Amino acid sequence: MDTDAKDFIRQRIEQDQREDKLPCGVVTRFPPEPNGYLHIGHAKSICLNFGVAKEFGGQTFLRFDDTNPIKESEDYVAAIQADVAWLGFEWSSLTHASDYFEELYKFANDLISADKAFVCSMTAQQMHDSRGSLTEPGTNSPYRDRSVSDNLDLFARMRAGVFGDGEHVLRAKIDMSSPNINMRDPVLYRIRHVTHQRTGDDWCIYPMYDFTHCICDALEGITHSLCTLEFEDHRPLYDWVLDNANVNFHPPQIEFSRLGLEYTVLSKRLLNRLVEEKLVDGWDDPRMPTIAGLRRRGVTAAAIRDFCSRIGVTKQDNQVEMNLLEFCIRRDLEASARRGMGVVKPLLVTLTNWRSDAVVLQGPWHARNESMGKRDLPFSGSLYIERDDFALDPAVLDLPGKWKRLAPGEMVRLRYAFIIRCDEYVIDNNGDVIELKCTYFPESRSGQDSSGLKPNGVVHWVSAGHAVPVEIRSYQRLFNSPSPSSTSLLEDLNPQSLLIDHGFVEPAIMAHEDTRFQFERQGYYCKDDSPPTASKQGQPNQAVFNKTVSLREGF
Ligand code: ATP
Ligand code: MG
Repeated sequence: MDTDAKDFIRQRIEQDQREDKLPCGVVTRFPPEPNGYLHIGHAKSICLNFGVAKEFGGQTFLRFDDTNPIKESEDYVAAIQADVAWLGFEWSSLTHASDYFEELYKFANDLISADKAFVCSMTAQQMHDSRGSLTEPGTNSPYRDRSVSDNLDLFARMRAGVFGDGEHVLRAKIDMSSPNINMRDPVLYRIRHVTHQRTGDDWCIYPMYDFTHCICDALEGITHSLCTLEFEDHRPLYDWVLDNANVNFHPPQIEFSRLGLEYTVLSKRLLNRLVEEKLVDGWDDPRMPTIAGLRRRGVTAAAIRDFCSRIGVTKQDNQVEMNLLEFCIRRDLEASARRGMGVVKPLLVTLTNWRSDAVVLQGPWHARNESMGKRDLPFSGSLYIERDDFALDPAVLDLPGKWKRLAPGEMVRLRYAFIIRCDEYVIDNNGDVIELKCTYFPESRSGQDSSGLKPNGVVHWVSAGHAVPVEIRSYQRLFNSPSPSSTSLLEDLNPQSLLIDHGFVEPAIMAHEDTRFQFERQGYYCKDDSPPTASKQGQPNQAVFNKTVSLREGF
């Protein structure tokens, strides 16, 4: 993908600049509804809105679109702010649609006074039945010709709380035969006797999105109101409200395509269902495509920004492959994460000729970045290696080449340490190998090897008496289907999306302040900084590592 070519939105802004249409610079907004946590789809919009403002020396409002108190909460407001800041963006102002409730009410009264809005007293069902369809025009409400003074009076009493929910609505008076259903006298206000998280019980009428959004954009002097394509059909209404209300600024609404990501869902409503039905461990479950989930999984903000820049901004619907996100994550962690040794599925190795106490060896934190320094590696006669690095009979594995790891009678090098040879193995009652008895070669120490031995390969290890026991959580796709459907969400869920192992990490990893590490030969892992939750099979108070991503694609 050519990341240098400017997308259509940036081209448009440059053109507006050339035509002197931006005397006060570029002003954008990111307008989440606080009804859930942000997901990676929102990150696309955040990177776009904050990104263009930054590039063009402008500013960005973080505006909470809080007009539907039934589903919203201040907890979500706080979580959204934390996520935007974590992604690395700064808002110039923090606002709420509810800051403008009084002004919005005034604009609504102006529309009524101009005979462009009326109070409709049909039931929701009647209104639905008279809307018409894509092929048939709607029919006018019998209340459409109420006098301006009746409408003003009714609307004032709606606000005063005289009526119950659903008794009346305020509707724009546009055109019931418009081919665009959004223009068929859309509802502007509805009655909801619900306490609002910010305005309390000040209001029992709440403005609808299509009325609120454009006016807030105008009041904030937004120069480019960027939204996703599903609002394209709403643009005539956006323009109608601004043309007919007494606002003196008219931002252009510009649509771009939503991000879709394979094997997950990007919708707060559906993600909320997973949380509510306890199918995941909260909004920040590392399997969730939420910013909080990705963060807990170990994904960096830089990787998410890189991903958003690579997917670009177009009007084509796109379903992006998970591989691209994983590529960006690896690319960032490859350079930034320290490398150490963690054994996910441990197999005990006893060195039968080890005669001394433990010794301390050393290894670099990053073989290609000396500035990260070295860490101590305690070594002893009792070690753990990865179970998969031993094969009882490599011949049955039918490998194309030679077995590169340990087997009876075979040798491997322990990374940054010695060459060992497996002499014997111990089997339990189930026939599982539970211990290897090995010889180590003292003259084969890494860096000063004079043994002349040719081991099969190099494997990672930890010293049993020094390693820290940890719970290691690995994640598979949350859904089995590349595009899970909202109607069969639960059937599409992957029941095996969380795998738990009890392994060990070298002590230097536990002691280090970093949270993200590469476990050599295994993948990238992140210390879980949430309070230790004993998993069903887990031990309480054991540190948890979340697997962020494997070392290679499709692993
Ligand atoms: P959801 O269905 O997840 O609740 P939404 O669009 O209703 O999404 P909002 O809180 O209204 O969520 O979104 C705030 C902004 O983020 C909007 O401008 C919206 O267009 C944008 N946005 C939401 N989802 C995506 C996505 N998948 N890709 C790009 N932008 C998105
Ligand atoms: Mg929404």
